[in-house]
Amino acid sequence: MITRFAPSPTGELHLGHALAAWIAYDEAQRHGGSMLLRFEDIDTTRVREEFYAAIEHDLRWLGISWQGTPWRQRDRGKVYDAALARLRDMGVIYPCFCTRKEIAMMAQAPQQGDGQEGLLYPGTCRHMPEREREQRMAQAGSWAWRLDATRAAELCGALTWHDRARGQVDVDATLLGDVVIARKDIGVSYHLAVVVDDAAQEVSLVTRGADLFASTHVHVLLQKMLDLPQPQYWHHPLVCDEQGKRLAKRDQSMSLSHLRAQGLTPAQVKEKAKEAMRNMEF
Ligand code: GLU
Repeated sequence: MITRFAPSPTGELHLGHALAAWIAYDEAQRHGGSMLLRFEDIDTTRVREEFYAAIEHDLRWLGISWQGTPWRQRDRGKVYDAALARLRDMGVIYPCFCTRKEIAMMAQAPQQGDGQEGLLYPGTCRHMPEREREQRMAQAGSWAWRLDATRAAELCGALTWHDRARGQVDVDATLLGDVVIARKDIGVSYHLAVVVDDAAQEVSLVTRGADLFASTHVHVLLQKMLDLPQPQYWHHPLVCDEQGKRLAKRDQSMSLSHLRAQGLTPAQVKEKAKEAMRNMEF
């Protein structure tokens, strides 16, 4: 079994990350497999260099080890470009020229919280006549690529995935609408990078927080279209604060460095994480 812990080096690890890392690590250990560490650093506007070493330091302190050299997604642009080109050739993505402001004015809220996308895209650029599309592409320096979710759904037919927490899940391809597959500013998206890398690293069990559950509908669809193997999933509950809100990177009081500075041992942090599980939402 291969699992992975995939933090973004945009802040310090907190108690919720520690729990996610333990789940990935313990699960791999239990099955005689290995856990990989992958830095999800495609959003170079938010990444800060010092967090790579800080994350590795925190994990070592917790007693968590990983196999091999951690991958950095920012080094893998060419692989993501190739996957994007394939989707483009299949006609399942289209260029989108809308600004955030335009979308905010027209969009509807999604039926389920998706943790990543916010609003559902109203599909404005999906119906753009081919000539206009070509003109806009020639004029604009850059644009986003969006999934044509309806078309992808037709192409893929019925899909399911196996989730440790929820059993067999039927894919709803249009749940998140026409999500961004490549952002205008960075040329890739979380959805594309995560799917390509989980396959490239032969991850067989994806463990991650329940906030990313809705995204898995998109991921399974992308795996099918890109001919990639489908891993198993385990969307585990999130660590919440006393008010029942999930921890955010800005909640410094739950950061591992803060807990360490208070004199807590890794064993006590693990206890605290387990305790916090009682406040978990799912
Ligand atoms: N990079 C994501 C995070 O820090 C995790 C993504 C995933 O596990 O698929 O929340």
